[in-house]
Amino acid sequence: PIVKTMEIVEKPNVTYSEIGGLEEQIKELREVVELPLKKPEIFREIGVEPPKGVLLYGPPGTGKTMLAKAVATESNAVFIHVVASEFAQKFVGEGARIVRELFEMAKRKAPSIIFIDEIDAIGAKRIDIGTSGEREIQRTLMQLLAELDGFNPLDNVKIIAATNRIDILDPALLRPGRFDRIIEVPLPDFRGRTEIFNIYLKKMKVEDNINLELLSQLSEGFSGADIKNVCVEAAYMAIRDGRNKVTMKDLVDAITKINVKRNNMESMKE
Ligand code: ATP
Repeated sequence: PIVKTMEIVEKPNVTYSEIGGLEEQIKELREVVELPLKKPEIFREIGVEPPKGVLLYGPPGTGKTMLAKAVATESNAVFIHVVASEFAQKFVGEGARIVRELFEMAKRKAPSIIFIDEIDAIGAKRIDIGTSGEREIQRTLMQLLAELDGFNPLDNVKIIAATNRIDILDPALLRPGRFDRIIEVPLPDFRGRTEIFNIYLKKMKVEDNINLELLSQLSEGFSGADIKNVCVEAAYMAIRDGRNKVTMKDLVDAITKINVKRNNMESMKE
């Protein structure tokens, strides 16, 4: 049953160059994940231990998954992708076993990176662990902590976790030797948005007068995922019009459309 809960990508193919902005985050991940996986002897020689686990946090759609995949690609590591909210629900009573098997598999397939998305689903502070569901989640978390404590920082397995709710995480997860490197992945700033537009638009057929700076200005507050949606939406507008090139107007209209969608989602949450 383990295969059903996990998406195992033997060879992810995302590269750093496909990520817009986030230079600092990439630099840090190269230092704390890529380098120790590729050259553990450097750390052994100088006598420091690299972190075993890295936590990425920030709003949805900002590129956390992309970053984790890119580090795996560039470290020549197997990428093991699990979504904590799924394995907590799907395998009632089996969470702890699945965590154990996950680490066994990662060691077998090393060098490898385990990516745990939505870690808050099993790693949130619990005020009340009365119900059996809560106790089950608690056991899953305990097993995860035990696995983290059990392996060596220079084993060629690294854990990257992601959340958009760092505020509710159990501090036990963030202790030294666990997820003790915390990297914020924020919404892109002006330059980041310009880069992300550029990454997607250079793959598309667009008219010559595209003003990337203006697009970036108009999309303040958008995530990378929103910007990708804008580009796809603009292409659909062109197709509906029977054109084979995306215009600046398509892109501006698409920004308006995605903005409306975003605002509706916000008001639904309230
Ligand atoms: P979630 O918290 O919702 O899981 P996430 O932070 O993991 O989100 P991703 O899944 O990496 O976000 O991003 C979703 C999609 O948005 C990516 O597949 C990519 O197409 C696009 N995207 C997001 N951020 C960037 C970025 N910085 N550069 C280029 N593309 C991006």
